[in-house]
Amino acid sequence: MYQALYRKWRPRTFDDVVGQTHITDTLKRQVATGRLSHAYLFTGTRGTGKTTCAKILARAVNCEHPVDGNPCNTCDSCRGIENGSILDVLELDAASNNGVDQVRALRDEAVYTPAAVRKRVYIVDEVHMLSTAAFNALLKILEEPPAHLMFILATTELHKVPATIKSRCQQFSFQRILPGDIAQRLLYVAEREGIALTSGGAALLSRLADGGLRDALSLLDQCAGPAGPIGEQQVLDALGLAGNLETARLMGRVADRDAGGALEDIARLYGGGKDISAILGELASLTRDLLIRKTAPRSGGTLLNGGFDETTIRGLSEKFTAPRLVWMLTVLQAALAELPRSSNRRTDAELCLIRLCDERLDDSAGGLAARLDRVEAQLSSGVPLPKVKSENTCQIISGEKAEISISQSCMQGETPVDDARSQKDLPPWEAAGIPRVEPMAAASDPKPTADTVPPVSPVPGGDIWPALAAGLKNKVSRNAWSFLGNPSMVRGEYADGVLTLWADDELVKGVVSRPTVLEAVGTLAQSRLGHEVRVSVKVGRPESVAVHDKLDDLLAFGRRFDNITIKE
Ligand SMILES: [Zn+2]
Repeated sequence: MYQALYRKWRPRTFDDVVGQTHITDTLKRQVATGRLSHAYLFTGTRGTGKTTCAKILARAVNCEHPVDGNPCNTCDSCRGIENGSILDVLELDAASNNGVDQVRALRDEAVYTPAAVRKRVYIVDEVHMLSTAAFNALLKILEEPPAHLMFILATTELHKVPATIKSRCQQFSFQRILPGDIAQRLLYVAEREGIALTSGGAALLSRLADGGLRDALSLLDQCAGPAGPIGEQQVLDALGLAGNLETARLMGRVADRDAGGALEDIARLYGGGKDISAILGELASLTRDLLIRKTAPRSGGTLLNGGFDETTIRGLSEKFTAPRLVWMLTVLQAALAELPRSSNRRTDAELCLIRLCDERLDDSAGGLAARLDRVEAQLSSGVPLPKVKSENTCQIISGEKAEISISQSCMQGETPVDDARSQKDLPPWEAAGIPRVEPMAAASDPKPTADTVPPVSPVPGGDIWPALAAGLKNKVSRNAWSFLGNPSMVRGEYADGVLTLWADDELVKGVVSRPTVLEAVGTLAQSRLGHEVRVSVKVGRPESVAVHDKLDDLLAFGRRFDNITIKE
């Protein structure tokens, strides 16, 4: 009968256990010196050696000729325990056996001295699955354990084990096994089994096993076939995974924001029989690696999942910013969590990819942060300016017929010749023609200040307010100007020596009625008109303004920007 590799190569002594020397050394010393606890609690993720160590310990404490704390595996006790003929060592799987009856039965027989060996050993796997009543029964034994009794409890979920149990056990925490250690063990087993395994194949298998040696050996079992050596490609084919090269390629598409290419890639992989969630999972794993490379360029090497060569990782990580990677990881994790419940997994995966390629499609806070990050990166690297007439200003020209024309180059956001990107690649704020600002140039540009606004002459029936409001910008508090400069909040109307400020509501009226504001408005109006002006504030809107409203609003809006010159 064929025996699975992980069972066949299950370690039989503490020295054979891979990657848990901090535990096996302690246990060996305890066995050798006889300072044993009556209860052990082994914790850690699956496949890290908890049950294996429990079995070795059960043999070691009963072995007739222990070797340096290891069981000899040849004496009657060792062999009897191993083949299950000695009933004093009992394994109980709480996952399938969570009833209180079994634990009570244990308790009843625990009082008897062992029949064949020195110690009665109970190994309870997945102990967190026990019911509360069963835990209480177990606690009773642990409180007053007979000298011949030993409990070895194992769990993957320590937080579900009651504190009363934990406090009565010696606790050992099993670590995930490092990929390098797993790969080494895989190569050793493969050699003994006559399986031709390349180091690349071993490295990939160890990465996929996520720190569990049992999983790694099971995967090797799946890949081992009659034909040829097992390399990366054979592993990928056998396990139906998108594979390193494909994943790196897909990541490159995301980096280039090439949604079309990414969709083609995923369609080809899907057509080739690859699993959708495996593709996204690999992408998430690679994103994590890139993020680690970004965050800890030097020391992060050991933290990488591995499986990608240095050139690929470095090349890809240069294309991303850390905030974008964080956002991508969030999107991928969310998509992966949703996938099992999805009725159309492929569509969901495609949507996820499209969002990864274009953060504008994601209106979550994370998506906005990623977009902001992109803009910041563009600004800091000095985005090329569009060629705009007359020193980077938009011109709003209003003639007698109050026609407004915005210069053509402004509207289209004319791109310089050296800007290789085509118009369709531009984000909307660039394509819409809002002038892009070069940081250094902007700082040295002379800005038109409010004081340079020419004085207006009082034209009978003319509206002096927009120019007046613009002149107030630096003469009143920022708070007051936010109302005075906004025509939908405050409109000024001049007639017969009285300037009436029409406030939108009582709140606005309260702000602009402050003596300092009124004084500033009055002084400016007086200097512009050349005679004394009385200022009053009312709530409402002047009749005469309604006709010009839209044009005036636009003009006033234009005045709020320093780089827009208004010709009236
Ligand atoms: Zn022995």
